[in-house]
Amino acid sequence: MHLDLLAIAAHPDDVELTCGGTLLKMAQRGYKTGILDLTAGEMGTRGTPEIRAREAAKATKLLAVKWRGTLGVPDSDVQASRQHKLRLAAIIRKLRPKTVILPYWEARHPDHYHASTLGYEGCFLAGLKRLPIEGEAYRPSKILYCISYYAEVRPSFVVDITAQYQQRRKAILAFGSQFRPGKTEKKSKVHLAIDRLEAEMNQQARHYGQMIGVDYGEPFLQRELMKVDDVVKMEVRSI
Ligand SMILES: [Zn+2]
Repeated sequence: MHLDLLAIAAHPDDVELTCGGTLLKMAQRGYKTGILDLTAGEMGTRGTPEIRAREAAKATKLLAVKWRGTLGVPDSDVQASRQHKLRLAAIIRKLRPKTVILPYWEARHPDHYHASTLGYEGCFLAGLKRLPIEGEAYRPSKILYCISYYAEVRPSFVVDITAQYQQRRKAILAFGSQFRPGKTEKKSKVHLAIDRLEAEMNQQARHYGQMIGVDYGEPFLQRELMKVDDVVKMEVRSI
């Protein structure tokens, strides 16, 4: 399957938290979208990889994602090693995404910034004809970086996800089922990590949404300058 848009991130739920609304919006536009989780999230404090896989499948459906896979990198040990880069390059050749979304290259969690480097270098290597892997050489033309709440960086642009916001919320919370207290448990005893994360990412969506004059938005960064043809139709609100 060839994709229009592929989001790559370290752990299952990273994509939902940072660019799930954008993935859904692009799927609603008719683009084929995909998610590649580098790890299965096996170092998460709660829940097994099997539970997270089930949750990921649910979130995938909610975001109308056509393809989702796991690269099989050990959780908490994401590195841009030759071995991982070659495996990633093989997937890039198979899916041939036009645009790739990676995590921003600075982060608190080492897996996140290593995922950024591994993603970039894997995409680059995929275009080298003589690389010792299968598939026809291919390189995505565009790489965008999604920004998490902790990154103090000014985004290059913001995607309006107001219409996708509720569905994005459901997709994020799909990962929280094992954190939810059972009916017999006292709610106060359970620390709802995913809820805290979700609240923070919703604040971020609100914050960046307001900056472009809508309710909710997802921020992105690009390293390159954007070519513009029509400055009259540019969707920028100055005053
Ligand atoms: Zn993560």
